[in-house]
Amino acid sequence: MNKIETRNVHLYYGDFHALKGIDIAIEANTVTALIGPSGCGKSTYLRLFNRMNDLIDNVRIEGDVLLDGRDVYKKDIGMRMDELRKRVGMVFQKPNPFPKSIFENVAYGLRVNGIGNESFIEERVETSLRQSALWEEVKDKLKKSAFELSGGQQQRLCIARALAIEPSVLLMDEPASALDPISTAKIEELIYELKSKYTIIIVTHNMQQAGRVSDKTA
Ligand code: ADP
Repeated sequence: MNKIETRNVHLYYGDFHALKGIDIAIEANTVTALIGPSGCGKSTYLRLFNRMNDLIDNVRIEGDVLLDGRDVYKKDIGMRMDELRKRVGMVFQKPNPFPKSIFENVAYGLRVNGIGNESFIEERVETSLRQSALWEEVKDKLKKSAFELSGGQQQRLCIARALAIEPSVLLMDEPASALDPISTAKIEELIYELKSKYTIIIVTHNMQQAGRVSDKTA
C-alpha cells in the first residue's frame, strides 16, 4: 500500500483552479521532491496532507487524499483531525521557533497533546534533537531562548519540534531556501538520514537539491 496517494485531486481558491487532477502515489520511507515554477501549486499540494488549506477561506477540494489508505477529508470514514496532526509534521521555509526555550520548543507538541510525564518528555526532546543533528550543539543550553540559535540551528530545531510527536510523514516547504550553504548541506544530510523512519515530501526550487535528496521528483 502507498503511504500517501492523491487521486484526481482538484483544488479551487474561490474561482481559481489551482490543482487540476493530480494523481501521485508515494511509497513509505522515500523522499519525494516537488519542483516547478513559482505559483504552479507545490505548496498548495503539500498542504493537502495536513489540511492546512482548510484554514484559507473559499477553498474547495475534490478527489481523494489518502494517508495509509484512509481519506483525510471524508469525515465519516476517514481520519480524524487530531490523528492527522500527530501523523503529519511540517517544516516551513523560514525557521519559526516559538518564543520559548530550546527545550520547550521541542516539548511543545507533547505538552499540547496532554503528556505530562517529565522524564518521558526529556527523553523525547533528546531523541528528537539527536535525530535533527542538533543535540551536540545545544545540550548544554537547553534553557536558553531558541532565538539565540543561528538560522540553520533554528531550522533544525523546527525539524526536532516536528519529530517530537513521532509523525510518520514529514512535509518540508523549501526548508533550506533561507539558509547558508553549510546549513543547507546539513539539512540535506538530515533528510537523507530521516527517510529510514519517515516519508518525506519536500518542495524545492533547487533542481540540484532535488537530485541530491530525493528518490523521486514530481
Ligand atoms: P508554489 O508553491 O508552486 O509557488 P502555490 O501553491 O503557493 O504555488 O500557489 C499556487 C497558485 O494558487 C498560485 O497561482 C497562487 O497565486 C494561488 N494561491 C495560493 N494561495 C492562495 C490563496 N490563499 N488564495 C488564493 N490563491 C492562492
